[in-house]
Amino acid sequence: MTKIALRSLRKEYNGQVAIEDLSLEIEDGEFFTLLGPSGCGKTTLLRMIAGFNSIESGTIAFDGVPVNDQPPADRNIGMVFQNYALFPHMTAAKNVVFGLETRSVGRPESERRVQEALASVHMDHLRDRLPGQMSGGQQQRVALARALVIQPAVLLMDEPLSNLDAKLRVEMRDTIKDAQRKAGITTVYVTHDQEEAMAVSDRIAIMNLGVVQQVGPPSEIYRNPANRFVAEFIGKTNLLQRVLTLKDGASLVDMGDGAVIDVSSVIDPTFSGPVIVSIRPEAVAAAADGLKAEIVDETFLGSHSQVRAQLDNGELVEFLEFSHRASLWRKGEKVSLTFNSEMLTFFDASTGHSIM
Ligand code: ADP
Ligand code: MG
Repeated sequence: MTKIALRSLRKEYNGQVAIEDLSLEIEDGEFFTLLGPSGCGKTTLLRMIAGFNSIESGTIAFDGVPVNDQPPADRNIGMVFQNYALFPHMTAAKNVVFGLETRSVGRPESERRVQEALASVHMDHLRDRLPGQMSGGQQQRVALARALVIQPAVLLMDEPLSNLDAKLRVEMRDTIKDAQRKAGITTVYVTHDQEEAMAVSDRIAIMNLGVVQQVGPPSEIYRNPANRFVAEFIGKTNLLQRVLTLKDGASLVDMGDGAVIDVSSVIDPTFSGPVIVSIRPEAVAAAADGLKAEIVDETFLGSHSQVRAQLDNGELVEFLEFSHRASLWRKGEKVSLTFNSEMLTFFDASTGHSIM
């Protein structure tokens, strides 16, 4: 049971900043995800927690005890990597037991724990297979069992699903989440896949250029993004540039075609000027009266369609169509769009920060 505290961490590679003044608290037993585009510093931060990377300044503490000076082997960490990193000449069971051999665990105890770890990832029936006789997904299950068997204080996973195909990735999310919950191990998970992050995490830290942009549960980040980067990175969104005006104490945004939205109850009352309005596709509906638009295309996805329409001023708006109509929207068809005003978020156009 371990709580992780990161305070004012900084990391440079040859004078180039990779992590800048980063502070985070990860709760005991939490499934915490570092999410961000390639190169934003996720692996660097994970390796700092593991002890593989030196640190320019700041503190890493486990349960209040600084571990900066502890080598990786003393930090009691389980790790899972993208490439599985199993020993090719050892069976699944031997790979898993390997982690225990450097610890003084008796034979019956060790056998029981290996069995339990393999069962928790649904691999107990393949315990005698060699890695070469397993699929990628099965190898990653064994790698996870090997990390869990040592009953680590902290479990670190770096893009563990990136080498798997789409269907398997979704299945493996459930395995990872279930095994983590069952073991109750504090987990830091790294991914660049926002959907995966939302599916598995208790909380997510969104990173960009070595800086944490926002921390929170998936639903909070999706509904109240702190800035434009987060709004675009988590889920899809339409960003429209408009102007917010103050009139008789009310904050009004003219969306066009006479559609004026009163945002007084949700917005910083002192703000006026150019804003970016973030509109999730599910907040847009085709209606009788609204913003005039013309259909660009419709992509049929089974349960629903993604439709793109162009406003008179040229801006593209994407929306979702769940009704199963006899025929799809046709290119050039006229449509009117309305927005669910409770689902909109607003950013200062000059800074990109939320003004809500
Ligand atoms: P991510 O895991 O989010 O893709 P990384 O932590 O691997 O990002 O990298 C963050 C930044 O640090 C990148 O600009 C990368 O090029 C740089 N970097 C990572 N590892 C090294 C290294 N060993 N030497 C020099 N630069 C590195
Ligand atoms: Mg990485």
